[in-house]
Amino acid sequence: MTDTGIREVIVIGSGPAGYTAALYTARAELKPLVFGGAIFVGGSLTTTTEVENFPGFPQGIDGPDLMANMRAQAERFGAEIVEDDIVSVDLSGDIKEVTDTAGTVHRAKAVIVATGSGYRKLGLPNEDELSGRGVSWCATCDGFFFRDRDIVVVGGGDTAMEEATFLTRFARSVTVVHRRSTLRASQVMQNRAFSDDKISFAFDSKIAEIKEADGKLSGVVLRDVFSGQTRDLDVTGLFIAIGHDPRTELFKGQLDLDDDGYLKVDAPSTRTYVSGVFAAGDVVDHTYRQAITAAASGCAAALDAERYLAMRT
Ligand code: FAD
Repeated sequence: MTDTGIREVIVIGSGPAGYTAALYTARAELKPLVFGGAIFVGGSLTTTTEVENFPGFPQGIDGPDLMANMRAQAERFGAEIVEDDIVSVDLSGDIKEVTDTAGTVHRAKAVIVATGSGYRKLGLPNEDELSGRGVSWCATCDGFFFRDRDIVVVGGGDTAMEEATFLTRFARSVTVVHRRSTLRASQVMQNRAFSDDKISFAFDSKIAEIKEADGKLSGVVLRDVFSGQTRDLDVTGLFIAIGHDPRTELFKGQLDLDDDGYLKVDAPSTRTYVSGVFAAGDVVDHTYRQAITAAASGCAAALDAERYLAMRT
């Protein structure tokens, strides 16, 4: 086994939470080693275009540029960022062990987990390609771009109703597409959506196709799940609200997960229930799921880890 020494802190994840944790621990001279992922370095914001709600950028900033800036800022203070995945962890001991894809074991006194969560997708061919170009998973992030447009929201739960209702502030019309004949959302959320004049419903329906023109979404094709009949819907926005999956597979059996698979922490701190392990960002957060909230909890995790390490020595 290659001896990589014992680090003060290892960060897993390079989204806003991971990079902020890296920045703070680097400035505290803890020389963090950051595993940023093999293909997803920079995290979720690298899959979008304009970010208009991250403070400090009055004209907005491209998602990949924002993440490149965060990386450069953490590196400036000595964070070492490795573009690789962690494939297994042993967090039980006093010294934590994480293993990369080459099988090298890296050890540290503290670990900050910031692996984020992935939005569930429809699985249509051009869905990813049109992300930020008409296809979105976040009304708070992108609703503003759809002023006076016709848009469609897919999903039947509380999130879908919340997104649809929120989007009526901007959109001319919102069609909620749901594959069943009844909604899963709570009654109060359903009532709110049903009573909104701008919202209509396409039940027992699925999105069969995303249409594209000039590199942007130009409409969708709906399919009736029973008859198989299709019809075109002229929209310029598609919001997918069918849930998310926290990236916690790696931690099953080692850290406490809630019923939805999110990491549990001793809130308001970022301490998990395993000493020396902290968690931040969307891997913990059911509720806010924004770049700024992820960055804020990455900062909190760094401060919690710093205090833990100071008490330990
Ligand atoms: P993420 O950014 O998801 O990062 C997770 C990191 O963990 C990645 O770097 C990944 O590589 C790494 N990772 C995962 N597993 C492993 C592993 N095993 N080993 C090593 N690394 C691993 N929010 C806004 O505030 N404004 C917006 O305009 C906005 N637009 C968005 C547009 C899109 C298309 C999407 C998908 C999200 C958007 N969001 C927006 C939400 C925002 O991106 C997230 O809330 C935020 O990125 C969460 O940060 P995070 O650090 O927790 O996780």
